[in-house]
Amino acid sequence: MQYDMIMVRYGELSTKGKNRSAFIGRLNGNITKALHEYPGLTIRPKRDRLHIELNGEDSQGVMDRLQQVFGIQNFSPSVKVPKDMTLVHEKVLELMKETAPEGSTFKVATKRSDHTFELDTNGMNLDIGDLLTEERPDLKVQMKHPDVTLRVEVRREAIYLSTTTIQGAGGLPVGSAGKAVLMLSGGIDSPVAGYLALKRGVDIEMVHFFSPPYTSENALAKAKQLTAKLTPYVGSIKFIQVPFTEIQETVKAGVPEGYLMTIQRRFMLRLADMIAHKRHALAIFNGESVGQVASQTLESMVAINDVTTMPIIRPVATMDKNEIIKVAEDIDTYDLSIMPFEDCCTIFAPPRPKTKPNLDKSRYYESKLDIDGLLQRAMDGIEITEIRSSDEFMNAEQDVISELL
Ligand code: ATP
Ligand code: MG
Repeated sequence: MQYDMIMVRYGELSTKGKNRSAFIGRLNGNITKALHEYPGLTIRPKRDRLHIELNGEDSQGVMDRLQQVFGIQNFSPSVKVPKDMTLVHEKVLELMKETAPEGSTFKVATKRSDHTFELDTNGMNLDIGDLLTEERPDLKVQMKHPDVTLRVEVRREAIYLSTTTIQGAGGLPVGSAGKAVLMLSGGIDSPVAGYLALKRGVDIEMVHFFSPPYTSENALAKAKQLTAKLTPYVGSIKFIQVPFTEIQETVKAGVPEGYLMTIQRRFMLRLADMIAHKRHALAIFNGESVGQVASQTLESMVAINDVTTMPIIRPVATMDKNEIIKVAEDIDTYDLSIMPFEDCCTIFAPPRPKTKPNLDKSRYYESKLDIDGLLQRAMDGIEITEIRSSDEFMNAEQDVISELL
């Protein structure tokens, strides 16, 4: 079917009172960005919907992209017909031929914003119902849960017909909830945490710690590829890589084994905090899940969290591993995440980390190190890359940007 327009219905944002126009503006911007490969489109945000006029662009391609834009409840590809009932009849039959298989049940649902049109909603329902009874005797009218609902919308400029409604991604428009940094490892959990952050409208920048030569270029590339997997939801994501070797070597040499992990994590979090401030981010997201490993007990969180007052949001905190894996599969990060590249944390992981580290001891052991110098040198070694999409990433066309810190 050659569709003319896609009618997009807003998600949760319609309940946001006077912030509504800001939300619609943000969603409009995100949709425009997601559809930049289709220059022929006209995108018209309205109070209750957003209309995308296709102007001949490929409707399937456009809809595939729309499904990854947060803040959309659902959308319907529609056919635009001049306000002439003969033409409406022709298009109804054509549309039903393609979308209502033989023997389907159906109903007609008309909405009218142009009250001057010759037929009112009832009249329109009856007229089109009669037409279909006559021309498609195989179909059967059914008011409750029909196979096909033919929506007819009589507007000032034209009449729109649609039979298909596609679920959108839900959530809130990315950016409408502000910006945060995500601590991204190469594991399963943190990419899922990133996806969930984006879904709630939070724009994220990735912070990744790596420890050459203990970790390889492959491990770094994997973290970037995971980032690329999330770009369809936003357009592009900044990837901030932080050298962590000196800190890990120093901690390993100077801290009792039971506290290695806690103190490494305190350094990571301090750096994430410093980066967040420089990048004007308001919170830190990570992939911790309560009780999953030694560093993720509540006692550990107390000992690690101590170094920052910034909100730390853990989207997968209460999810079981299986539930996290399910999301990872849905967003296609799982296969990458399980690729066996060394991680900076596992390499320096003590065999028996304390599951209940003591806060005062953590502070005490750490106080013997040159904390400020270590942090400063790590910050000085930061490199930031803008990751736009998987394809681009695979072609290694990334811009390294240095203006940022
Ligand atoms: P993940 O699957 O996300 O790696 P995990 O279950 O392996 O999580 P940990 O290794 O304890 O758990 O890491 C907990 C969280 O700390 C991660 O989800 C991530 O947010 C952060 N983190 C761990 N390693 C790194 C790293 N190298 N760079 C950035 N953040 C990291
Ligand atoms: Mg990990």
